[in-house]
Amino acid sequence: MAAKTPAIVILGAGSLATARRIQQRYPDALIHGLAGRVEGDRQYLEFGATLRELYQQDTPIIALCAAGIVIRTLAPLLLEKGAEPPVLAVAEDGSAVVPLLGGLGGVNDMARDIAATLRVAPAITTSGELRFGTCLLNPPSGYSLGDLEQGKRFVSDLLAGEPVRIEGAAPWLDQAQLPQDPQARRTIHVGHAEREASTHELLIYPRSVAVVVSAELADLPGAVRAALQQANVALRSLACLVAADTLMASTVLREAALEFGVALRFVAATGDAATLARSSVPGATVVSTTDNLAIAVAAQPLDVAQIGRPRGRLAVIGLGPGAAELMVPAVKAELARATDVLGYETYVRMAGPFRADQVLHCTDNREEMQRARHAFELAAQGRSVIVVSSGDPGVFAMAAAVLEALHESSDPAWHQVELEILPGVSASLATAAQAGAPLGHDFCVMSLSDNLKPWSIIEKRLDLAAEADLALAFYNPISRARPWQLGRALEIVGQHRTPQTPVVLGRDIGRPGQTLRVTTLGQLTAEQVDMRTMVLIGSSTTCVFPRASGGNWVYTPRWYGAKPA
Ligand code: SAH
Repeated sequence: MAAKTPAIVILGAGSLATARRIQQRYPDALIHGLAGRVEGDRQYLEFGATLRELYQQDTPIIALCAAGIVIRTLAPLLLEKGAEPPVLAVAEDGSAVVPLLGGLGGVNDMARDIAATLRVAPAITTSGELRFGTCLLNPPSGYSLGDLEQGKRFVSDLLAGEPVRIEGAAPWLDQAQLPQDPQARRTIHVGHAEREASTHELLIYPRSVAVVVSAELADLPGAVRAALQQANVALRSLACLVAADTLMASTVLREAALEFGVALRFVAATGDAATLARSSVPGATVVSTTDNLAIAVAAQPLDVAQIGRPRGRLAVIGLGPGAAELMVPAVKAELARATDVLGYETYVRMAGPFRADQVLHCTDNREEMQRARHAFELAAQGRSVIVVSSGDPGVFAMAAAVLEALHESSDPAWHQVELEILPGVSASLATAAQAGAPLGHDFCVMSLSDNLKPWSIIEKRLDLAAEADLALAFYNPISRARPWQLGRALEIVGQHRTPQTPVVLGRDIGRPGQTLRVTTLGQLTAEQVDMRTMVLIGSSTTCVFPRASGGNWVYTPRWYGAKPA
């Protein structure tokens, strides 16, 4: 498991230089700066909320401020079980590095690394670490600890003076200062075999086992458990599931990998499970249980990234109107895991900043089908691809283009890509929310662009929607290439609505320089609208009334006809 990229959080310009030095040690880490005080890689508005959100997302935190501030901010979360990422406080001038939380997440290792970068001594306070130079309860990646509670007792025994001996290969302990004695009763046992820990044993499992599947199995988790048990291999040593690439779209496999918390890798289907196991994990001992399931046990922890390849993933995401707060958390998580990002340059920039290892493929706004096909080509190679839309990807945006490309394709590799559409706040909804609730009752969403549909159908729909007394939301209301269409659209609407009908114009909503304007159909002219504007036209029941803070509220009541008692 790769360590997660930390977030460096600063409150003012005084810490920026130290933050940049720490960033040299973690080149992918972003500096989060308090908006209005300091320019980082990312701006945040509220320190407490930001820190708590990072913590809850299990992101390691390097906060350049007083330790006390960090403790008070995170205190409400500490009693909850769940993620405990490393959290460190670093003095603004880089003179002190204090690991605060996440002892089992490697906080002391981070403290040592940061301190080395800043050329100071880390403030390590964990007794076991100080004494032994390593945290026994936090073995390196590739190994997992058997039982934490038992481990804590074991470490206190050693601290109390008990000697210890090591059984099995524990190369990371070579440098540790453990009170070793070949006669010791306490043992650190490293091995993949299933065993009951005796009271004097600390069990550490190397993740050195792959279970290889060559055909779909009904109860896969059950079969895996049974096979491991039969082979006397501990589930804790499972590093990954490996499957024939013909099974790439299998839900059973995906769910089994999730249940075991291991990676899922695919190899070319060239025979039974034992054959696949031998070719995908060279040098491993292969225990074949059935034709369709085999266990490969290696001498070392497995480097899963070297085995076959992952199933490709394609996510079509909506950024929302622009402001980071309006982006759904699932989209944020997807942006973090992506290897490739495709989209119109403006939106790709809006979705960033990205890490150096993420590849950006910026294209012109109009090349939608080409972009969709490119996305599948990349994902079919096993990459994790994002196609970016503003607002919601399903509203006059990339989701439909991506599905159209897939529908047209007969390439099985494209159909095996894990495809997901993640929603966003669409411009009509973001604009409506700022104005009040102009879309509070039935409404109709239309694009006024006649690029991909005949103008005659737009006129017909406008006419019928206006006649049906639906509130109207116009996307793509006007552009240089389509100068007269909006005027004609308003004429049609005007045949069914009074000039007093409320109209909301939202321009660059959720972006810098946003404007919101409430006017009426009678006063609306095409000059007030451009391609970055959302036009909302009320129905016959839409009302306007002044707000105490200035301007107006606009809403369309939930009822129609006579107001219910
Ligand atoms: N998928 C997008 C819409 C793309 S069509 C969404 O769901 O929001 C592009 C049109 O959306 C623009 O011409 C404009 O009418 C509207 N639009 C997009 N973002 C906007 C914003 N931030 N403010 C106002 N209108 C916006």
